Amino acid sequence: MQIDKHSVVTLHYTLKDNDGNILDESSDGSFCYLHGENNIIPGLENALTGKVTGDELSVSVPPEEAYGLHDAERTQSVPRHMFPTEQTIEPGMQFHAEGPEGQSLLVTVVKADDDTVTVDGNHPLAGVQLNFDVKVIAVRDAEEEEITHGHVHGPGGHHH
Ligand code: ZN
Repeated sequence: MQIDKHSVVTLHYTLKDNDGNILDESSDGSFCYLHGENNIIPGLENALTGKVTGDELSVSVPPEEAYGLHDAERTQSVPRHMFPTEQTIEPGMQFHAEGPEGQSLLVTVVKADDDTVTVDGNHPLAGVQLNFDVKVIAVRDAEEEEITHGHVHGPGGHHH
């Protein structure tokens, strides 16, 4: 059966950047999602529509269809004392911060000295071209309840 809206899709994937570094992969077996509910990035979801079990595909997704472009305005300087004093703050470290609307935001340290820490609130994959190698392992129709919840239940999905 072909992947369509409200298919439950199981796949193996490897995600690389343009330099061939592996950013992510379906390490412990497989990854399972509900198609057509924005559970995965749009560029990959669109490429999977109509595919069947056993299909292998390589999809290159531009940042605009993945985690967005890098927005320089999301970089800001924060006083050093806002961070744990017992910890050495170094570029590459990530912290949870509160965004302008009170939402949880993951920020990455880009620069730090004794007085000021510069953090980047962009998604770590913002501005990155995402290159997926994907193999479709299984396709089935979603259960009524899965469609209502907007996600997959059972192995590889939500348990509640
Ligand atoms: Zn559920």
